[in-house]
Amino acid sequence: MIENFDMELFQKISLERCNGPFNCADQPLLYWSTAIAEEAGEIAGVAKKMARGFNKRELLKMRKKHGEEKTDTELEQMWFVEKKEQLAEEAADLFTYIDLLAQKSGFDLWAAVTSKFNRVSEEMQCTEYMLPTSRTESAKPAEPKINEL
Ligand SMILES: [Mg+2]
Repeated sequence: MIENFDMELFQKISLERCNGPFNCADQPLLYWSTAIAEEAGEIAGVAKKMARGFNKRELLKMRKKHGEEKTDTELEQMWFVEKKEQLAEEAADLFTYIDLLAQKSGFDLWAAVTSKFNRVSEEMQCTEYMLPTSRTESAKPAEPKINEL
Protein backbone atom coordinates (compact mmCIF):
# COMPACT_ATOMS: atom_id res chain seq x y z
CA MET A 1 0.00 0.00 0.00
CA ILE A 2 1.22 3.46 -0.85
CA GLU A 3 1.43 5.73 2.17
CA ASN A 4 0.32 9.33 1.80
CA PHE A 5 -1.03 9.14 -1.73
CA ASP A 6 -0.72 12.64 -3.16
CA MET A 7 -3.95 13.23 -5.04
CA GLU A 8 -2.94 16.70 -6.17
CA LEU A 9 0.28 15.37 -7.70
CA PHE A 10 -1.60 12.49 -9.31
CA GLN A 11 -4.09 14.90 -10.88
CA LYS A 12 -1.32 17.16 -12.20
CA ILE A 13 0.63 14.28 -13.75
CA SER A 14 -2.50 12.63 -15.13
CA LEU A 15 -3.59 15.86 -16.80
CA GLU A 16 -0.10 16.41 -18.23
CA ARG A 17 -0.12 12.90 -19.66
CA CYS A 18 -3.58 13.46 -21.07
CA ASN A 19 -2.57 16.75 -22.66
CA GLY A 20 0.71 15.28 -23.92
CA PRO A 21 1.22 11.77 -25.26
CA PHE A 22 -2.41 10.71 -25.05
CA ASN A 23 -3.48 13.73 -27.10
CA CYS A 24 -6.91 13.92 -25.52
CA ALA A 25 -6.78 17.43 -24.11
CA ASP A 26 -9.73 18.78 -26.07
CA GLN A 27 -12.10 15.88 -25.75
CA PRO A 28 -15.67 16.70 -24.72
CA LEU A 29 -17.55 15.37 -21.71
CA LEU A 30 -18.99 12.60 -23.86
CA TYR A 31 -15.47 11.22 -24.42
CA TRP A 32 -14.77 11.00 -20.68
CA SER A 33 -18.20 9.51 -19.99
CA THR A 34 -17.60 6.89 -22.64
CA ALA A 35 -14.18 6.06 -21.23
CA ILE A 36 -15.71 5.62 -17.78
CA ALA A 37 -18.41 3.33 -19.19
CA GLU A 38 -15.75 1.34 -21.04
CA GLU A 39 -13.69 0.81 -17.89
CA ALA A 40 -16.78 -0.07 -15.86
CA GLY A 41 -17.58 -2.64 -18.54
CA GLU A 42 -14.08 -4.08 -18.26
CA ILE A 43 -14.56 -4.43 -14.50
CA ALA A 44 -17.86 -6.18 -15.12
CA GLY A 45 -16.20 -8.53 -17.61
CA VAL A 46 -13.56 -9.61 -15.10
CA ALA A 47 -16.17 -9.91 -12.32
CA LYS A 48 -18.38 -12.02 -14.60
CA LYS A 49 -15.51 -14.44 -15.26
CA MET A 50 -14.71 -14.61 -11.56
CA ALA A 51 -18.36 -15.34 -10.77
CA ARG A 52 -18.46 -18.05 -13.46
CA GLY A 53 -15.30 -19.53 -12.04
CA PHE A 54 -12.39 -21.47 -13.38
CA ASN A 55 -13.89 -23.60 -16.13
CA LYS A 56 -12.37 -25.78 -18.84
CA ARG A 57 -11.93 -22.85 -21.23
CA GLU A 58 -10.02 -20.87 -18.63
CA LEU A 59 -7.93 -23.94 -17.84
CA LEU A 60 -7.02 -24.34 -21.51
CA LYS A 61 -6.05 -20.67 -21.77
CA MET A 62 -3.93 -20.89 -18.61
CA ARG A 63 -2.29 -24.10 -19.83
CA LYS A 64 -1.41 -22.41 -23.14
CA LYS A 65 -0.06 -19.36 -21.33
CA HIS A 66 1.90 -21.12 -18.58
CA GLY A 67 2.86 -24.50 -20.06
CA GLU A 68 2.42 -28.10 -19.02
CA GLU A 69 4.46 -28.13 -15.79
CA LYS A 70 1.72 -26.72 -13.54
CA THR A 71 -1.10 -28.81 -12.12
CA ASP A 72 -4.72 -27.87 -12.76
CA THR A 73 -5.01 -26.71 -9.15
CA GLU A 74 -1.94 -24.50 -9.45
CA LEU A 75 -3.30 -23.00 -12.66
CA GLU A 76 -6.65 -22.35 -10.99
CA GLN A 77 -4.94 -20.55 -8.10
CA MET A 78 -2.85 -18.51 -10.55
CA TRP A 79 -6.00 -17.69 -12.55
CA PHE A 80 -7.73 -16.21 -9.50
CA VAL A 81 -4.64 -14.14 -8.68
CA GLU A 82 -4.53 -12.89 -12.27
CA LYS A 83 -8.23 -12.02 -12.18
CA LYS A 84 -7.79 -10.01 -8.99
CA GLU A 85 -4.86 -8.18 -10.59
CA GLN A 86 -6.98 -7.45 -13.68
CA LEU A 87 -9.80 -6.19 -11.46
CA ALA A 88 -7.38 -3.83 -9.72
CA GLU A 89 -6.03 -2.58 -13.05
CA GLU A 90 -9.51 -1.87 -14.42
CA ALA A 91 -10.52 -0.14 -11.19
CA ALA A 92 -7.39 2.01 -11.50
CA ASP A 93 -8.33 2.88 -15.10
CA LEU A 94 -11.83 3.80 -13.93
CA PHE A 95 -10.49 5.98 -11.13
CA THR A 96 -8.16 7.77 -13.55
CA TYR A 97 -10.95 8.50 -16.02
CA ILE A 98 -13.34 9.66 -13.32
CA ASP A 99 -10.71 12.09 -12.09
CA LEU A 100 -10.04 13.32 -15.63
CA LEU A 101 -13.76 13.83 -16.16
CA ALA A 102 -13.82 15.91 -12.98
CA GLN A 103 -10.79 17.95 -13.98
CA LYS A 104 -12.07 18.55 -17.51
CA SER A 105 -15.52 19.46 -16.17
CA GLY A 106 -14.06 21.88 -13.64
CA PHE A 107 -15.08 20.37 -10.33
CA ASP A 108 -12.99 19.05 -7.46
CA LEU A 109 -13.59 15.32 -7.28
CA TRP A 110 -12.58 15.04 -3.62
CA ALA A 111 -14.79 17.90 -2.55
CA ALA A 112 -17.65 16.25 -4.42
CA VAL A 113 -16.94 12.81 -2.92
CA THR A 114 -16.69 14.21 0.60
CA SER A 115 -19.82 16.29 0.26
CA LYS A 116 -21.88 13.46 -1.23
CA PHE A 117 -20.57 10.91 1.27
CA ASN A 118 -21.52 13.14 4.16
CA ARG A 119 -24.95 13.94 2.72
CA VAL A 120 -25.73 10.22 2.37
CA SER A 121 -24.39 9.56 5.88
CA GLU A 122 -26.74 12.22 7.20
CA GLU A 123 -29.70 10.83 5.26
CA MET A 124 -28.96 7.33 6.52
CA GLN A 125 -28.22 8.56 10.05
CA CYS A 126 -24.74 7.01 9.95
CA THR A 127 -22.03 8.16 12.30
CA GLU A 128 -19.29 7.94 9.67
CA TYR A 129 -18.34 11.24 8.03
CA MET A 130 -15.42 12.38 5.94
CA LEU A 131 -13.64 15.28 7.55
CA PRO A 132 -12.84 18.16 5.22
CA THR A 133 -9.22 18.73 4.29
CA SER A 134 -7.62 21.85 2.95
CA ARG A 135 -8.61 20.68 -0.53
CA THR A 136 -12.22 20.00 0.41
CA GLU A 137 -13.06 22.96 2.62
CA SER A 138 -16.45 23.24 0.98
CA ALA A 139 -17.26 19.69 2.03
CA LYS A 140 -18.33 20.31 5.59
CA PRO A 141 -19.34 17.35 7.71
CA ALA A 142 -23.01 17.32 8.40
CA GLU A 143 -24.05 19.00 11.61
CA PRO A 144 -26.43 17.10 13.84
CA LYS A 145 -29.95 18.40 13.53
CA ILE A 146 -31.23 20.51 16.41
CA ASN A 147 -34.01 18.06 17.25
CA GLU A 148 -31.44 15.24 17.51
CA LEU A 149 -29.40 16.97 20.25
MG1 LIG B 1 -9.01 -0.80 -18.80
